[in-house]
Amino acid sequence: MSKAKYSIIPRPQKYNVLDGTYTITPETAILCSPDFIKAGKYISNFLKTKKDANNGQIKIAKDESLRAEAYHLKIKPDGVTISASDENGAFYGVVTLKIMIMQSKTSNGVAVVNCSEIYDYPKFSYRGEMMDEARHFYGVDAVKRALDEMAMLKLNKFHWHLCDDQGYRIESEVFPLLNEIASKRKYELLGGAEILSKIPGLQKGGNEYFHYYKKEEIREIVEYAKNLCIDIIPEIDLPGHTVAMLAAYPNLSCMKENYEVFCENGITKDILCAGQEETYEFVEKLLTEVAELFPYKYFHMGGDEAIKGHKIWENDCSACQAKMKELGFENGKELQVYFNNRVNDILKKLGKTSVEWNDGIGNNTDKDIVGHYWLFRSPSWIKAENNKRKFIVSTCPSLYFDYSYAICPLKKVYNFDVVKSGFINEKNVLGIEFESWSEWIDTYDAWEFAVYPRIFAFAEVAWTEDKFKNYKDFYKRLNFFKVYMKSKNINYSRIEKKIWFKVKNKSVFHLGNRGAEYKYNECLKAKELKG
Ligand SMILES: [Zn+2]
Repeated sequence: MSKAKYSIIPRPQKYNVLDGTYTITPETAILCSPDFIKAGKYISNFLKTKKDANNGQIKIAKDESLRAEAYHLKIKPDGVTISASDENGAFYGVVTLKIMIMQSKTSNGVAVVNCSEIYDYPKFSYRGEMMDEARHFYGVDAVKRALDEMAMLKLNKFHWHLCDDQGYRIESEVFPLLNEIASKRKYELLGGAEILSKIPGLQKGGNEYFHYYKKEEIREIVEYAKNLCIDIIPEIDLPGHTVAMLAAYPNLSCMKENYEVFCENGITKDILCAGQEETYEFVEKLLTEVAELFPYKYFHMGGDEAIKGHKIWENDCSACQAKMKELGFENGKELQVYFNNRVNDILKKLGKTSVEWNDGIGNNTDKDIVGHYWLFRSPSWIKAENNKRKFIVSTCPSLYFDYSYAICPLKKVYNFDVVKSGFINEKNVLGIEFESWSEWIDTYDAWEFAVYPRIFAFAEVAWTEDKFKNYKDFYKRLNFFKVYMKSKNINYSRIEKKIWFKVKNKSVFHLGNRGAEYKYNECLKAKELKG
């Protein structure tokens, strides 16, 4: 009788069940190649077993023939071998082993694991999660908790959105007012801008909100992520989404007025002045200070939603108008392309590869800037840009987990396809990333509700070849992870499908505790507890 496969998400590319079992005991030793210390530590911490320099029944070894991030896992009656050509591959091998052990028969520290053989590798090299702590701040422990679960799903890029109109959240020794002024806003809860302001539950309120990460906390998180094979990509959004910076340093603006850190959703009209050299000098010093904290390749420079500011550049600011005339530009968009290309020059000098949101990209945007697609553009635009540059794809709303489950249900995430999104040239797609903007996600608990279980579907889209994907099979495997999430007290959503709420005085858009879905989920959980 052949044994059932263990439930693994993301689904491995090739997984065969073999005859026999292997028994792991407290005496089982781990023999790990010196290149794969992270993998060795991760599994020995989980098994609480010993590491052994000379012998071991669990061997983690180097095999140069395997591709990047791939692993080969073999469980036989006499032991386990994991081979990989790089650190990430070895790490993912032990993550899979851990998930199998969690589902095996265990008693008194002894686990009996079914023999198996797995060949596995990721579809995309960039498998990203974005957390927005500019709008709401969750703190060191929450970020570490999120990173732990990313590792379990073989996600490898943590895009950390730490500054926006509603706050600047990185300690700055070069520009201390970024903390004294830009890290602080009048109200904790944001109001709904424009048409949204009529929706009950979207009014600003609460106490003063003052948060930022100390450099030593950021270093601690970077180190923590490194041990989980996760790169951190910081985002300093430029030139838009910067009114918190302007509140601290109004000289960087076009109109030099008094600005306040924004307490609403949406975007402000005031952005950095692109017509004066003082702005570029500030940006260079700031990026130099921030880049030092993040020893990774990619750096996100935002570039999105600056369109209201373009009007000020075009109509009100003499410095911007003079710059446009000097360079022969006809509109603010062309000036923005020039601005972001200069930011790209700064980041290149710092050894970074820039990432920019797609709406900031124009005809003359540098080809070495990685595009980050989120906003619907015409198929012809996507096709042309797709052939020109590398892309990260986060199509809204399929990969926007700040949208309600009614708009972005679990199955919609699972069925997401970059090619159907218009990116026919998949070679230029580095990968995918989900977003979780936090205007309406005001606590980490609400963040978990927004992200889990959609993150499981996302991880499988990012990792597993299309030909091996199957929603029914995925949904069956998810059962194990629901038990797992309960055991770790993760506040996952019991709502997976499209339910529109006709609840008065509650917004369906709000995923925090003022939202209808969140409240309904609390009821479902209470019922579960009752049994
Ligand atoms: Zn200006």
